[in-house]
Amino acid sequence: MILSGKNILVMGLARTGVACCRFLAKRGAKVVATDMRDEKALQAVLAELDGLGIRFVLGRHDEADFITSALIVVSPGVPMDHPLLLLAKDAGGEIVSEIELASRFIDVPLVAITGTNGKTTTTTICGELFKASGFATYVGGNIGDPLIELVESGEKTERVVVEISSFQMEWINSFRPRVAALLNISEDHLDRYAAYQDYIDAKLRIFENQTADDFAVLNADDPLVWRCAEGLKARVFPFSRKTELAEGIFCLQDEIVYRREGREERFPIAGFRLQGVHNLENIMAALACSLLLGCDPAKSLACVRDFGALHHRMEFVRAVRGVSYYEDSKATNVGSVVKSLESFENITLIAGGKDKGGAYAPLVPLVRERVRHLVLIGEAAQRMAAELAGLTDIRFAGSMEEAVQLAAEVTASGGTVLMSPACSSFDMFRDYEDRAKAFIAAVMKL
Ligand code: ADP
Repeated sequence: MILSGKNILVMGLARTGVACCRFLAKRGAKVVATDMRDEKALQAVLAELDGLGIRFVLGRHDEADFITSALIVVSPGVPMDHPLLLLAKDAGGEIVSEIELASRFIDVPLVAITGTNGKTTTTTICGELFKASGFATYVGGNIGDPLIELVESGEKTERVVVEISSFQMEWINSFRPRVAALLNISEDHLDRYAAYQDYIDAKLRIFENQTADDFAVLNADDPLVWRCAEGLKARVFPFSRKTELAEGIFCLQDEIVYRREGREERFPIAGFRLQGVHNLENIMAALACSLLLGCDPAKSLACVRDFGALHHRMEFVRAVRGVSYYEDSKATNVGSVVKSLESFENITLIAGGKDKGGAYAPLVPLVRERVRHLVLIGEAAQRMAAELAGLTDIRFAGSMEEAVQLAAEVTASGGTVLMSPACSSFDMFRDYEDRAKAFIAAVMKL
């Protein structure tokens, strides 16, 4: 791909946008960078990109830039139907996401991981597995460092593992992972997509450019995921927690079994640090991706066994008067809360926050069966209370501290207080980490 002398517009100057600007300018492209935030808000960005010959259009977008650019690199924050992108398309410009741009310059095997939940956990484990087997590995994408930073640095790697969100897949056209994993699909981001199907379609694009030389690692237990197996060009390699497979990776009693082309590897589950049924799925998916690309089974077992929980994903905080407190602030949709409820009994659930527009109904059976008390916070509280009415004792709190105090008062010894909100945090907090901090602080005060 020739960049030198090409007119390229970068839309959105968050971290990936900035990294793209730097890369493109260094490769001799004529870069225009645009963002609705003004110069004052973007002072640090301007300093970082100083001296690279980039023209900035800030505090607004100029229609002319969208019409005259040969290539437009869009930040994942921009909606697909943005009028200026439609205009650019009509004018014949090519629109790409950062992941598409970066992947054109990567020629080592790339693993891409997507799904509604478990992306970060699985991507991290997968990266660790490659490293444990001695491969120079870059881990990035939606977590950590943007992929384009790898390309820009010129760093030598042998494997690349990227976490991919549905937004990043919106503008791809040749992105082709050697192994692509789809972990699960449940409702999320309905505040961004017009329909649930649009969100599903965006996720499925991860397989779009694969060929019979590539692998699709699919969750055979998830009907929505499994349904897409039929139409794929890549070789399907399933994982299942529930069914023994002739070819694939699955749980059999207390072992994970990897079965491929008549060969079998076994990974005893006892002693895994990572808890929760969903994490078995994440581990299986990560093992599949890495074993398919040459990892050593014995080194992989040692690595997986030692892997502990990532922060804010069902993390134990402390026990007070016989009650355990768990913080699961990253559970920002219903699918992830289902898994955390499956992992405990006698639960006091603290939930609520910014409503993303999906249904809370999938929580009904588990709330009825396992949640003794439900403490609701944030904007979504009333709608959640209405959808979960009559199942358990429901209370409301005005702040996280109040919610924790209330939970501590009502929870009997032996129970678990779980903060697993099913919503995003932006109504009351800066982000999910800020929400986690508020919870931990309140628990430490008890
Ligand atoms: P993502 O990057 O997709 O948001 P994370 O690994 O950060 O995924 O986990 C987000 C939330 O989802 C956490 O609450 C975690 O406990 C839960 N979770 C992790 N893996 C899964 C899974 N396979 N299925 C359902 N929920 C999961």
